[in-house]
Amino acid sequence: MIMKKRVFSGSRPTGRLHLGNYLGGLKGYLALQERQDLDCIYSIVDLHGITTPYDPKTYQKQIREVALDYLSVGLDPKKCHLMVQSQVPEHVQLAYLLATIFPVSRMEQLPTYKDKKKENPDYVNVGLFYYPILMAADILLYKAEVVPVGKDQVPHIEVTREIARKFNSMFGQVFPEPQAYLTPGAYVPSLKSEGKMSKSAEGSYILLTDNLQTIKARLAGAPTDTGRGEKVPVMGGVANLLALVELFEGKEARKKLEGQYAGNGIRYGELKERLAEAIYQELQPIQIRRKKFEEKPKLVAEILEEGKQYCSQIARQTLDQVRRAMGLV
Ligand code: ADP
Repeated sequence: MIMKKRVFSGSRPTGRLHLGNYLGGLKGYLALQERQDLDCIYSIVDLHGITTPYDPKTYQKQIREVALDYLSVGLDPKKCHLMVQSQVPEHVQLAYLLATIFPVSRMEQLPTYKDKKKENPDYVNVGLFYYPILMAADILLYKAEVVPVGKDQVPHIEVTREIARKFNSMFGQVFPEPQAYLTPGAYVPSLKSEGKMSKSAEGSYILLTDNLQTIKARLAGAPTDTGRGEKVPVMGGVANLLALVELFEGKEARKKLEGQYAGNGIRYGELKERLAEAIYQELQPIQIRRKKFEEKPKLVAEILEEGKQYCSQIARQTLDQVRRAMGLV
């Protein structure tokens, strides 16, 4: 029997998922679950979600929301395992062991830590700093070789690879070096002029659960310019809108608009109207499926329980192997 390669990825339950999560993360999850040579585990990484401000009273609900998002985009429990990170405590145990071999100086250079520090200057906690180590543990615990993520997470995959290499050289071969798997939508820009679309940046996102009217309202707030000029902007609001046009209406639609920018000018009202329709067309079937799963909380709980059981047995094996390699047993 050929051993299947393992795939692992996760999303934080910090509010409902948005187009960035969908195009950069979930589209990759969906493509990989179809492959017979891969064994996919997709997690709701609740321990990562508590490193930025959150409400403990609504947290369980938020975790269920991500499970619903996963199922409604088409993740299929017959083709992959869905699990909640904190239900398998080995994630944290392995993270501590890996932390002991990773230099602080290297952690300080990581871009996401710097970004999150800027976003929440009053909430810079040790957990946030430790995030990439926990993420490395998430992946290495299952000896995953393929990690579908958006571009923003690539530096963290590099950290994971470094940790795997260092661990293997210090204690003997245990971990494979995972590779990031990027989709064409690996970077979805913010609707505002700067940065990526993110749950934590208000006004930057469109949610998978938004109706047509809300999508239109959100796009209406996206900054534009006069609509014409010698050079099509490569940064800022207009560049971001054009990137979204390409992702939802194709390259040709974008080229046409670029032509208009240099010619008679772009009418942003029309552009936004059409783009909203195109986005909604993709989201509507997802929303219909979501409704069906919302009515079946027991089924959703069972799916997560199966994931927990499946992941626990792999996690126990890896942790046992790591403890032996490190001389702890
Ligand atoms: P957020 O940054 O919104 O809090 P997460 O950290 O939970 O989202 O990321 C979940 C997945 O979605 C990751 O694979 C991440 O790379 C991807 N992702 C998040 N935002 C974007 C974006 N704007 N473009 C592409 N992928 C993204």
